[in-house]
Amino acid sequence: PQGLEGPLAKILQWADEIRKLGVRTNADTPRDATVARNFGAEGIGLCRTEHMFFEEERIPVVRQMIVAKTKEQREIALEKLLPMQQEDFVGLFKAMEGYPVTIRLLDPPLHEFLPKEDEDIKALAEEMGLSYEELKATVEELHEFNPMMGHRGCRLSITYPEIAVMQTKAIIGAAIQVLKEEGKTVIPEIMIPLVGHINELKYLKKIITETADKMIEEAGVDLQYKVGTMIEIPRAALTADEIATEAEFFSFGTNDLTQMTFGFSRDDYGKFVKEYIEKGILEVDPFQKLDRTGVGQLVKMGTEKGRSTRPNLKVGICGEHGGEPSSIEFCHITGLDYVSCSPYRVPVARLAAAQAAIKHGK
Ligand code: PEP
Ligand code: MG
Repeated sequence: PQGLEGPLAKILQWADEIRKLGVRTNADTPRDATVARNFGAEGIGLCRTEHMFFEEERIPVVRQMIVAKTKEQREIALEKLLPMQQEDFVGLFKAMEGYPVTIRLLDPPLHEFLPKEDEDIKALAEEMGLSYEELKATVEELHEFNPMMGHRGCRLSITYPEIAVMQTKAIIGAAIQVLKEEGKTVIPEIMIPLVGHINELKYLKKIITETADKMIEEAGVDLQYKVGTMIEIPRAALTADEIATEAEFFSFGTNDLTQMTFGFSRDDYGKFVKEYIEKGILEVDPFQKLDRTGVGQLVKMGTEKGRSTRPNLKVGICGEHGGEPSSIEFCHITGLDYVSCSPYRVPVARLAAAQAAIKHGK
């Protein structure tokens, strides 16, 4: 992937001198990360680890983990996934050349990894050496009427702490590897999704830090890492002062935060939002442009409350809004530290951040 050249590169350089907001990228693969670096991204603000699980050689192992009846069986599958995850993270750390890399623990409900149709369940059962009835029962067990508000995010790792342990091992293992092999700075940031209560964060942070600290001590390296949280449930924004006692950074997941603040389903809102706009009920699509008066107020409140207990709390945004100029302007006004957006939006974000700084001052 090529970087930027010519007048655009020059303009963006000027933009960088002016902007106050950092610009990171949402990237799940070393390739995306490299594209974003060439566009000027200063780190990864969100790596969605689940995407790596869908790869051809991994999905069978992920499924073994899901259908496991005991913790021991689950751990055997996770042990197989560990080197593959670690390899992914090595690639991300290398691509990011010493900039921070925020890696989020597994987020989607587990049924997303299993087929739904009978025919596909039959085929998979055969492939896995299970009876159709057995696999069908697992699929039914995992079924949820409202999966976006169901068993996902940190709730998964609280039910199955071994998932958090495996992912922590992969992240810290990769960081140690890159540090040892290349002697380069590595800044891993482990991010917990869908936190709504301080105790969720406490529970998982303990597991993560115990796992990570032991590895770092055994490797005898000087590695600093952070454990932080997404703020994407209104309750997390409302109790951000408490949450910041544990979280070392915040990243606003404004996709879910918009969904849960409006009560609009991220997957179904298209059916009525167009009409809302035509009828003047809404001015804009709130999933595209940050709703300043509602969702934005939660971002503001979350940031202020978080910094009231941890004054130097680093705060970013990694929902789709992080790449949209008017939302970036709001992030600047609100005093966020950085925005994170898809690789191809990085240049626009750099420009929008500079425009916001010119318009509103530093
Ligand atoms: C979000 O909710 O804004 C977010 C970044 O996470 P995801 O889109 O993966 O739920
Ligand atoms: Mg989310």
